[in-house]
Amino acid sequence: TEPIHIIGAGLAGSEAAWQAAEAGASVVLHEMRPQRTTDAHQTHGFAELVCSNSFRSDDHEHNAVGLLHEEMRRCGSLIMKSADMHALPAGGALAVDRDGFSDAVTAELSAHPNITIERSEIAGLPPAEWQNVIVATGPLTSPPLAEAIRELTGEDSLAFFDAIAPIIHSDSIDHDIVWAQSRYDKPGPAGTGADYLNCPMTEKQYNDFIDALLAAPLHQFKDWEMVPYFDGCLPIEVMAERGRETLRHGPMKPVGLTNPRDPLTKPYAIVQLRQDNALGTLWNMVGFQTKMRYGVQTEIFRMIPGLENAQFARLGGLHRNTFLNSPKVLRPDLKLRADPRLRFAGQVTGVEGYVESAAIGLVAGRLAAAETLGKLMETPPRTTALGALIDHITGGHLEAEAYSSARSFQPMNVNFGLFPPVEISKPEGVKRWRGNEKVMAKRKAITTRALQDLTVWA
Ligand code: FAD
Repeated sequence: TEPIHIIGAGLAGSEAAWQAAEAGASVVLHEMRPQRTTDAHQTHGFAELVCSNSFRSDDHEHNAVGLLHEEMRRCGSLIMKSADMHALPAGGALAVDRDGFSDAVTAELSAHPNITIERSEIAGLPPAEWQNVIVATGPLTSPPLAEAIRELTGEDSLAFFDAIAPIIHSDSIDHDIVWAQSRYDKPGPAGTGADYLNCPMTEKQYNDFIDALLAAPLHQFKDWEMVPYFDGCLPIEVMAERGRETLRHGPMKPVGLTNPRDPLTKPYAIVQLRQDNALGTLWNMVGFQTKMRYGVQTEIFRMIPGLENAQFARLGGLHRNTFLNSPKVLRPDLKLRADPRLRFAGQVTGVEGYVESAAIGLVAGRLAAAETLGKLMETPPRTTALGALIDHITGGHLEAEAYSSARSFQPMNVNFGLFPPVEISKPEGVKRWRGNEKVMAKRKAITTRALQDLTVWA
């Protein structure tokens, strides 16, 4: 059979190659290092961890990334096997010896009878005779390939930076304070006229908030990470530096909105939240991209009325990151609509993190192998962590009209907001939930359902 060509032996490409080879397909794995390197990689090894050595929580009952670990283990993941072999003590987290981990991945792939390794850059679109390709070139995809993809998908479909506004879990928003309304009640193409949640601020609250922004420490960038500012996408602390009133005339402007609980008092400023996923479990802070350090973001954003107890599915950030506008350009099977020879995997698809990148590689490798071997395979159900991630990036199982994610698509870690919600009832004999018992019970119900559904798929 024709080989599958996989470009990039990072977290995603290594896992994809392993899955496809184990399924019986033949694989050519192309890696440009050491011939050419990136600004972040230091070694020639496969699956190099460019920054932290942590795969985050390993609790598969109550944590979404822990669940993803477990699903990948059950699918025979090389990345998880190597991480488990080289795990370091780190409490409930899975941290690894980065060199031991990368060496193990490199050795296993190099020894696999179905895998051939080519150490060279693919400097443009893959040759026409390659019919089954996985592009897993990561957040620092080499420029000639990135440019070629950009030409193929269109200018707006491949970004080189992410500008991320914080995203909040819906059930942590105080719905007694915020109210639902679009500015001037405009319904928009998919809306009802009550599409945003609005957080009202008094003059004092606004001024305290601006003071906190101006005093906040910023993330320190390396030279090559320096992100250019685009107008219309400035970090909020930069807007605040330009003048105390700038935000009040920008993303926090109080016009076209009336608080139904206090219609006669005009708020001095308003923060708007926009629905971020079709399920309505996640909401993003409109126009609130920021470079503030993570800890301080949580503190400052909880000053906003209605967000006092906000739980963040992700905090704001600005990074160098090459990624596709996947809900627009990828099909649910991870193939590029504009050229279905090419399937994408890893961070370039708009997931975020080592584990998430490898997870998309796992599914892409299996799908590509099924195709060459003439088998039918569906993507994992969206009740699983693997499926929930794929659904997030491709908008897969959802009606396009109901989901305008392509407009504001930004990279995301796996989190419980991506799963279809579950209903739970109190255990027999329990009158009232205490503390976070209910949250934990819901998480357990989601992870139990996920592992059951995964077994059927796998
Ligand atoms: P990579 O692991 O980067 O693999 C891509 C591979 O493709 C590389 O080996 C590269 O050399 C190769 N390549 C690129 N272009 C070509 C080409 N044209 N031809 C052939 N080969 C090519 N995530 C975390 O979970 N924790 C962190 O601490 C963390 N820190 C990060 C720090 C930085 C500076 C960056 C940029 C990202 C970080 N990430 C982190 C995000 C992300 O999870 C990792 O970048 C992860 O490695 C992505 O996996 P990947 O397989 O998509 O890409």
